[in-house]
Amino acid sequence: MEIYKKLKDKAAELESGFPVIPVLKATGCNGLCERGPIIQVLPDDIFYCKVSVSDVDEIFERTILKGDVIERLLYLDASSGKRVRSFKESEFYKKQFKIALRNIGQIDPACIDDYIERGGYEALKKALFEMSPEQVISEIERSGLRGRGGAGFPTGYKWRQCSKTNDFPKYVVCNGDEGDPGAFMDRSIMEGDPHSVIEGMIIGAYAVGAEKGFIYIRDEYSLAVRNVSKAIEDAYIRGYLGRDIMGSGFSLDIEVVRGGGAFVCGESTALMASIEGRVGEPRVKYIRSTEKGLWGKPTVLNNVETWANVPVIITRGAEWFSSIGTEKSKGTKVFSLVGKVKNTGLIEVPMGMTLREIIFGIGGGIAGSGKFKAVQTGGPSGGCIPEALLDLPVDFDSLSDAGSMMGSGGMIVMDDRTCMVEVARYYLKFLSEESCGKCTPCREGIRRMLEVLEDICAGEGREEDIELLLELSETVKEASLCGLGKTAPNPVLTTIKYFKDEYLAHIKEKR
Ligand code: SF4
Repeated sequence: MEIYKKLKDKAAELESGFPVIPVLKATGCNGLCERGPIIQVLPDDIFYCKVSVSDVDEIFERTILKGDVIERLLYLDASSGKRVRSFKESEFYKKQFKIALRNIGQIDPACIDDYIERGGYEALKKALFEMSPEQVISEIERSGLRGRGGAGFPTGYKWRQCSKTNDFPKYVVCNGDEGDPGAFMDRSIMEGDPHSVIEGMIIGAYAVGAEKGFIYIRDEYSLAVRNVSKAIEDAYIRGYLGRDIMGSGFSLDIEVVRGGGAFVCGESTALMASIEGRVGEPRVKYIRSTEKGLWGKPTVLNNVETWANVPVIITRGAEWFSSIGTEKSKGTKVFSLVGKVKNTGLIEVPMGMTLREIIFGIGGGIAGSGKFKAVQTGGPSGGCIPEALLDLPVDFDSLSDAGSMMGSGGMIVMDDRTCMVEVARYYLKFLSEESCGKCTPCREGIRRMLEVLEDICAGEGREEDIELLLELSETVKEASLCGLGKTAPNPVLTTIKYFKDEYLAHIKEKR
């Protein structure tokens, strides 16, 4: 903010008699978070990274006023090792395809006019005035959109189930309780383009007949809370929310609910319990939320990224969206690419791109002198994928066939100095602390698995412990109540499957 303020002061000084007054915009992160603070100068498309307050005078005098390029501040492309004038010329950007992240880094998230100028709320107008609720649902079904929160459940099917019930009121909910270590996809969308989520939710509410919506945001995400709240306020002022939206006869209210930061509240039923003011614990899954969700009423719950895709599908059509991606995983997916990779940041790629293209193409390969060893996808409940599977296409089914999962989009790259047994122990520790404790297999099973792993890491393990871990994993997977427990063994199972030699090495160390 200091940089922005200084630039603003410099621009203000020009106002008497200068022919062109620069327009300044504070945008969300365009993906290269680790290279920030970033300044992009348009229309010349000059991209400066790691800018400091002391650079501002020079940028203003030389680049903004005269169009000169300051070489040392240009974006350094990790793949080519060269400085490039526009980051669009970089490998990091070229291979991406942006749908959910379409506006981030381009608009001021606190300015509804910026969103409208880029086609915002056009999809809502189309849905309300040119399409019936049935047509909206059918469009989403035909697009093949699957939930981006983890399970990959077909969004259109969920909406149809909810629309079929004649029980009112109905609700729409946005899950913004992202809690995976190393993940910041939803946070960036809420911070950088909150109207895309709100517009998606209004369209979804119209389709299923809901008149109330909630956006559940992790409390630590204070900027996301601020920007989403401001966007909701502005949407009311412009008539996109509230009574009789744009004279269509359709009404919707949306409010923000701040979550307390429990990882388990990212689970849909725990999240709904939390919104109701109850303890955030999951419930049995045979009761569908689309029939009995919030306060026992039909509810559609989707995550931030899923909602942000909806306006584009309505505007550009199901055929366009479904032409991107793979047969069973349509569209794109946002990932937070972090760990031992040269280009870390937020990326969006077509489904089906291989891990190799993502890590070595977009990510620029392994940072430092290490070699690639594994990539962990799907958050703490995902799995670790080895080098032999680098050509695996990234889609819902391929990742789950490899023992991992898409999850909400965390992607942590590890090099050959990483101990995979320690990695499994880290995730299990995280999950044992975040287990809500409601059911025994998860509460006790994860704790017992952690004890075994701690013994192995301390050089006190036995070969039989590997078998014991596999047995415990089976029980925890089968008998746990919710997704947290059912997927918790994944890091252990994949590290045993792909890196068993490291377990044996720890065990043999003892002897
Ligand atoms: Fe709670 Fe774990 Fe049971 Fe889920 S599986 S309800 S997190 S104890």
